[in-house]
Amino acid sequence: MGSIDRLIGHARARARKPDSPLPAPPRLQAVILTCMDARIDPVSLFGLSPGDAHVLRNAGALATPDVLRSLALSQAILGTREVLVLGHTECGLLGRSEPELAEAIRSKSGHRPGMDVGAFKDLDEAVAGTVEVIRGCKFLAHRGAVHGYVYDIDAGSVRPVGAHEGRAARSNASNPLSLKALSADVLNLKPSRRPQR
Ligand SMILES: [Zn+2]
Repeated sequence: MGSIDRLIGHARARARKPDSPLPAPPRLQAVILTCMDARIDPVSLFGLSPGDAHVLRNAGALATPDVLRSLALSQAILGTREVLVLGHTECGLLGRSEPELAEAIRSKSGHRPGMDVGAFKDLDEAVAGTVEVIRGCKFLAHRGAVHGYVYDIDAGSVRPVGAHEGRAARSNASNPLSLKALSADVLNLKPSRRPQR
């Protein structure tokens, strides 16, 4: 039995009608953007219940065009006003290079990706860069409350971005993905056409 069969079996065994219908707008008016890393459980980490928050996940917790699209809709249609960006230690994109990751994809699939995959060298800089991109997204009605945090996988703890070892967050942090490409592609999901590095 594959994992999906097990997952669906579990869902079917637990299926039950909610006691009362939940409204679609998140109760906390907040969005959490974090990495897809399976060791991060936003529900338990933040004590979430169904209906509390939007949770967006991707590799690296990056402000990709689809994340900006989702944030724009979340704020415009479903009333959210705050964004929490949560990067994490031991991220699979940390300390790797774009060519290395592109080659990993090519070697497994036979196709070299024609898009940035989001490698980054500095965790805090990546989180700060993601915050910066979200704050600069003109499609968002609420850009004043975007906050960056880092989840320590080992310690199970959360700290503000830049707040470690007396280090200050870099004000000129740049997002590992192209800000220009993100702005241009936010609502149509075009892959980056930048030449490969
Ligand atoms: Zn990660």
